[in-house]
Amino acid sequence: MNNKLEKLVQNLFKERVIKSEIVKQVLLSVDRKQFVDESDKINAYEDYPLQIGFNATISAPHMHAYSLELLKDNLQNGVRALDIGSGSGYLCAAMFLMMKQQQSKVIGVEHVPELVEKSIKNLSLSYNKQLQDKQIQIIKGDGRLGFEQEGPYQAIHVGAAAETIPQKLLEQLDKGGRMVIPVGKGNQVFQVIDKDQNGKINIQNVLGVRYVPLTDLNKQLYN
Ligand code: SAH
Repeated sequence: MNNKLEKLVQNLFKERVIKSEIVKQVLLSVDRKQFVDESDKINAYEDYPLQIGFNATISAPHMHAYSLELLKDNLQNGVRALDIGSGSGYLCAAMFLMMKQQQSKVIGVEHVPELVEKSIKNLSLSYNKQLQDKQIQIIKGDGRLGFEQEGPYQAIHVGAAAETIPQKLLEQLDKGGRMVIPVGKGNQVFQVIDKDQNGKINIQNVLGVRYVPLTDLNKQLYN
């Protein structure tokens, strides 16, 4: 067993960021160390974000836990999930493990080609079969456009802050689906967006956050 990871997860449970047994088990199963850079392996089980290059970070464990709790029911009952700005690939693995249905599928969309490669390499350490079977798939592209071919999605996680909610992502959210997304410039708010069976959208603001912007590739690399 991994003592440091266990301690991290225990703390998140005590702090009530983790509320459910399933999120607890998933955070224990996905080894964050496999998703951080060589120079940060020693910090893998600390509760803060870590640089992964290209002005991107792997989010802090408490934000991963928080997002998984919000998406829990949609992931457990859904068959298709989307992770926009998939970065290290960590959440693609975690979201996949939350899903209970056969044929479940997680699509990660990332615009930095090197991070697409890096995340596939990270995932191949423990999720090679899922990559082969295309149950976990990383697509290089602009996440603001989603990935229409595989939609609609019962769960969408956006890991970078949009200035406004991208219309394409709203369109690709299934009826009964839920999207979690940081929105705003500077002061960002984490939003939970539910689409009901009639297609009506409900938005809740749940938390102030700080995420890397969801932007153009050149702006991210050269700003
Ligand atoms: N959930 C990821 C977060 C990575 S940081 C993790 O924990 O590892 C946010 C990511 O969003 C970065 O990898 C960045 O390259 C990506 N990103 C930003 N704007 C994007 C866009 N328009 N399309 C696709 N990916 C984008």
